[in-house]
Order: sequence, then structure tokens, then C-alpha cells
Amino acid sequence: MKPEWAYGTLVKVDDDPTGRLLMLAPIRFALTLQGLYPFWLDADKIKAKQEQRLRALLAHAVAKSPYYRRRLAGLDIARCSLADLPTLTKAEMMEHYDELVTDPRLKKAEIAAFTDDLSNLGRLYLGKYGVSHTSGSQGQPALIVQDEQALSLIFAVQFARATKLKRRFLPHLGRLLNPARMAVLTVKPGFYPSAAAFAYRPKYLAPIFKVLRLSHSDPMETNIRRLEEFRPEYITGYASALEALGREEAERRMNLRRLGSLKQITNVAEPLSDAAGDKLERIFDAHVTDEYAMGECMVLTSGCITGRGSHVNADLAILEVVDGNNRPVPPGTEGSKVLVTNLYNYVQPIIRYEVDDRVTMSAAPCNCGSPLPHIAKIAGRTKDLLWIEDGGTRREVPYYVFLAPLHHVLELAEHQIVQTGPKHFVVRVVPLRGKTLSVDRIRQLVLENVREEGLESEIVFDIEVVPEIPLGPSGKVSRVKNEYAQTRTAASPTRPVRADT
Ligand SMILES: [Zn+2]
Repeated sequence: MKPEWAYGTLVKVDDDPTGRLLMLAPIRFALTLQGLYPFWLDADKIKAKQEQRLRALLAHAVAKSPYYRRRLAGLDIARCSLADLPTLTKAEMMEHYDELVTDPRLKKAEIAAFTDDLSNLGRLYLGKYGVSHTSGSQGQPALIVQDEQALSLIFAVQFARATKLKRRFLPHLGRLLNPARMAVLTVKPGFYPSAAAFAYRPKYLAPIFKVLRLSHSDPMETNIRRLEEFRPEYITGYASALEALGREEAERRMNLRRLGSLKQITNVAEPLSDAAGDKLERIFDAHVTDEYAMGECMVLTSGCITGRGSHVNADLAILEVVDGNNRPVPPGTEGSKVLVTNLYNYVQPIIRYEVDDRVTMSAAPCNCGSPLPHIAKIAGRTKDLLWIEDGGTRREVPYYVFLAPLHHVLELAEHQIVQTGPKHFVVRVVPLRGKTLSVDRIRQLVLENVREEGLESEIVFDIEVVPEIPLGPSGKVSRVKNEYAQTRTAASPTRPVRADT
């Protein structure tokens, strides 16, 4: 069965050797956006679309994936309820990767080798697939393959749902004359999902969408100068990096507010407190929003255009908030994990995929008027913070400094980063069953990343291979642990954990 895109046609540029379609592509893209715009959909239409896409995905998975044919055997996939479908863990997905995907040419080992060579970033695998490692904090790394339509959708949804529109008819067509300018503040380029999404950005977006990539490991003065020259309308980054920019603006070392271009700031991948979000809004006079997504489902949510938090793109994905036994919890109640179904990735079907995030859905509709379900809170991603302490001042170290290099270690089952001293860290790694881990290789990978982040002289770390990571009090693995903070807190309980609060 062919994937179905009732919202419009996303153009495949590779099918267009003459380049004529490339010229039409932005117009067709604008039409697609028109269809995705949520404020002229209603909850029933969205639900119907979700149901239709779920059935199409299940039929495709059973027809083309040996894994799903086996797992879903005996189920009436045209009528069964969502709860009848088996869940999928990351470990299961990776163990059965080669038979789970629906293109038999895709092989885990070969894709992993492809991603080991950074020069492949942005190059379509087998001429048609974008490849990424999962981001986030789910222990072992996972590979994600998606086709060009899925890659386009990431941007279509971002345009249509995470920005305010001026008019109803072909609202983004004006971008042909006046391209959107987005600054993205991340770690250096790589195959992790957010970086890969930009690397695989469809070519036809070039005239309507300018991107400035900044690395928060570059000197702040350099980033400030480049931001002021670029005059972004949108800035996307991790909370800690956005807060650092806010401090520069507040101290008047940066003047983005005076330049008047900035409309929206989007936080991804790290929790941003309400207080910190409010402060950023005051400093920049721009709307601050959140996005909750993962490499396995990049369009899971879009930031709310008027309030804080995000809306689930329920026509393109299913987010089930559940307790420890996969039973649904009602809106307003925090779940212990979520089950994510990606309704647009047909090459690597991801159905009821378990993610250890503690999410609370809003019990009341959002004030913005969107019919899409609103997420009130995400608690599971609040990691213990890591920092470097030097002469009484603390500087936060993003977990990603240690996590990003581990994405290259496919023999890895689990990991834990522990801060043990003012600048001392232990990277604990657990091998997959029957595999061994090379301490030297992991040390080298982490060291390279620490060096590239400019933290070589500030961070001392050890690699420890252990058989398992003990479970924390919530029954989950805590992948970031600050033992040093715990000793400090015991000694001076009133001291704030973060230097800037
Ligand atoms: Zn809203």
C-alpha cells in the first residue's frame, strides 16, 4: 500500500532531472502547509485522519516487514484497538532491525558503517533515505531511516504549526521573496536527529528558508556577531544554550531585541522552567515555546504559538501516556512512560514505541484554540545537572557532551554519566549481551568531543565498563547522576543547585 498524503504533495526533487519541478516545489510546499495548518481542522477530522493512517501503516507493516508480520499475526489489523497491538522497545527494534524495516536492502551493520563516516552526513543512503542516530537518553543508540517525504514533513510541520500566520490563503508563499531565517544552536554537526534533519533539508527549501547553524562550543562573541549579522526570526536550541544567550542580551553584550527581527525562540531537548521561559520572553520580547520530539518521531509535537508547551500532531503520530503496565492515564495525571506511534515513516515502522518520559497531558483545551492535544508537562527529561566548578563559580555541562560520542558505539546497551567531583566524571557503559566494549575507543570518542567543545582542560573523566546500571528509586535507570551535588547538598542544603538561579 502506498503511503497516503491527503494534505498535499511533497515534491520529490530527485524525480525531476530538468529542475522544472524544483521551481514549482515551493508553491506545492506552500499548498501542503495550507493543509497542515491546524486552526481549520477540528478534533474529529484529526481523529479520523489518525485512524486512517494507523490502519494504512499497519497494513503496510504486515505486508512488507517480516518482523511485524510475525508480531501482528492473528490480529485483525483493520479493526483491532490500539491497546491490542504489541509495544516495541528500542532494544527490540535494534535486535530485529533488518527484518523490521520494509526495504530489504536496509541492513543495520551497513547503515551503522555509513553513519560512522561523518562525510556522509546529508547524503541520501541508497539514494533515497535520510539516516540518523536517536538522540536523547534511552540507553543504547538506535538507527532511524526515513524517506524524503518524511524528511520534508519535518519542515512542513514546523512551518505550518509552530509559527503564526498572517493570512489564510497560501500563507507561506511570501517566503519566496522574504525567506524565513532560523538560527539553530546545537552541538557540532553529526547524525543525531536534529542535526541530521537540517543536513537532509530538502533542496527546494533553500529559497524560502535560511538556516544559520551555530555551535554552543564556539566562543560566545563569535556566536553573537553571527547572530546579529543574520538577524534571525527564529532561534532554536537547548534550554541551557538559550539561557546563556539571554544572559548576553540582558547584559547588553548582544542586541538582538533592538534589531527587531526575532519572533520566536524554541526550546528543544532540555527542560526549560516557566520562570526561565518568562525571563527569555521579557529579555528578547519574543514568544518562547517548547518542542517535544525524538529521532524516532521528529514531528511528534509542535510548539504552541501563543502559550508555553507543545501540541501533539495527532494526525501524524500517536502519543499514549501510560502507567508502568502500559495502561492509559487520564489527562492531568503524570504517566510513567509514553508509547509513540509514528504514522508517516513507512520504511521503518515504529508502532507503540516505549519511551521513558513522564508526560502529563492538559485536561483543558489550550487557550490558543488549536484542536491538537496539548502537553502540560514533561518531567522525565529533567536530568540531574552536570557542571564544572572553578573557584566558586559553576558552569553547566550539557549531558550531550558525553552522550553524543556514545551514539557511535553500537555495542552499547546502557550508559550512565556520573559527576564525582568539581570537574570529575565517570562514563559507565554496559555492553550488549555477547558483545565487548573497547574502553580505549570510547575514551578516544569522548575525548574528541570534549576537546571539540573546548572543555579539554576543564573535564577529567574515566570510562568504566560495568555489567549493569543499578535502577534508581523510580525503578528506572538514571543516565545522569550527580553524586558530587548530593554530597554538596548534604553539606549545605540551602545552596541552589544551579549557579544562575
Ligand atoms: Zn496552544
